[in-house]
Amino acid sequence: MKHESIDGVVVRVRDYGDHDRYLSVLTKEQGRITLLSKGSRSLRGTQTAVSQLYTYGNFEYYRRGEFKILKSGTPIQPFYSLSMDIDRLNLAAYLCEVACEVTDQGEEAGEMLRLLLNSLYAVSRDLYPQEIVKGAYELRVAALSGYEPELHACAECARSRSDPFYLNVMNGALLCAECLKKSGANKKVRDTAYDDIREAELLCTLPPAVHTAMRYCLQAPIERIFSFDLKDGEDLRLFAKAAETYLLSHLGRGFDSLNFYHAMRTADAQKKEI
Ligand SMILES: [Zn+2]
Repeated sequence: MKHESIDGVVVRVRDYGDHDRYLSVLTKEQGRITLLSKGSRSLRGTQTAVSQLYTYGNFEYYRRGEFKILKSGTPIQPFYSLSMDIDRLNLAAYLCEVACEVTDQGEEAGEMLRLLLNSLYAVSRDLYPQEIVKGAYELRVAALSGYEPELHACAECARSRSDPFYLNVMNGALLCAECLKKSGANKKVRDTAYDDIREAELLCTLPPAVHTAMRYCLQAPIERIFSFDLKDGEDLRLFAKAAETYLLSHLGRGFDSLNFYHAMRTADAQKKEI
């Protein structure tokens, strides 16, 4: 039987029967593929190590009908240190769920794979604030999916500076403070939960530092997209909010892993206050 081999990251794991698992693996060449991993739920299974969520590895498989059956696998980068911290683990779960959502079988996914690998690495090593990794990832995923916001200048008057700018979440266009004033009060500027995102004309506030940071993560090489700083806590919060709101609105859905990540972080922050 002919074996094939491919490198990729496990972005979803579904148990099947008592012993087996379906793995969704994001690969450069074939996009997201599904592999049946036999016996990987057993602790002694030979495929157990490579059948874990987040693992980047080499997968050898053979085809049987329309199924791809995993024969063996070798972890290349298992990202073990993710499991040392619950916030890191939850954020990684969200990054994988998003990657799963925006990729498909048979569609080349080299950039998405590099983006995911860089992001998982940054989260696992705690190299940057999580808001920065998460926000840069979200903006870049939006761009890779064909929804890059137009952040060069105000869409109405072409002004390239404004304190602040506003991002129209629905169409990805910028609006300067002057043009917002002229357009009247029918546009809403406020914080949102996902449930509110579907309202028309939703605007996110982008102070100059946030605007610069967002432009940076859309233009920088993927290897360097997290190399910027938002020292001001409010700027960091607005950056995180704008990136998340923008991506969810364009994907048209929320994510359980994201709700869980936020809920755990909030609970954690409250614990520290007590
Ligand atoms: Zn304007």
